[in-house]
Amino acid sequence: SESGSSCYRVVLIGEHGVGKSSLANIFAGVHDSIDSDCEVLGEDTYERTLMVDGESATVVLLDMWDNKREGEWIRDHCMQVGDAYLIVYSITDRASFEKASELRIQLRRARQKEDIPIILVGNKSDLVRCREVSVAEGRACAVVFDCKFIETSAAVQHNVKELFEGIVRQVRLRRDSK
Ligand code: GDP
Ligand code: MG
Repeated sequence: SESGSSCYRVVLIGEHGVGKSSLANIFAGVHDSIDSDCEVLGEDTYERTLMVDGESATVVLLDMWDNKREGEWIRDHCMQVGDAYLIVYSITDRASFEKASELRIQLRRARQKEDIPIILVGNKSDLVRCREVSVAEGRACAVVFDCKFIETSAAVQHNVKELFEGIVRQVRLRRDSK
């Protein structure tokens, strides 16, 4: 998007099954946790205007990472088009956590000269008894990868609103420092 505009393209990436679409559905307002209307632009693209810190921001959320039907090009496309990224893993699945690190590296390679806002998202925090990745590990990984960290639960809608507000703040921080 052009500089100065307040419309941000945010891309969900991460292993299949970690909860990307569940988070997108909450964003889309299926469960009405964020007030304002959502426009569904395609089967895996959602647009909604959020009020964050007294300023409105339009977020276009892309949830097409697992879209196999479109082929491999869709992942290259995802890596190129985001103004910001949510790299999601499940706290109950260590392999998905390791995958998140790989994706961070891929993203850095794809967008070398850019300082892309990223939030590392440990989802399914409600499944406490199945936890395989500690909060400390998630936080440490985010430090190494120079991004923000949050644990969420799409199931009980914990920290989901905070996640989308957080990514808007991250984009603004970079915009304001230019
Ligand atoms: P995606 O493949 O990354 O899009 O993941 P989905 O959103 O399709 O979720 C995969 C499965 O995990 C579904 O059965 C969801 O209901 C479940 N799920 C997603 N988020 C959570 C969560 O926060 N807690 C729990 N307990 N289950 C979740
Ligand atoms: Mg999905």
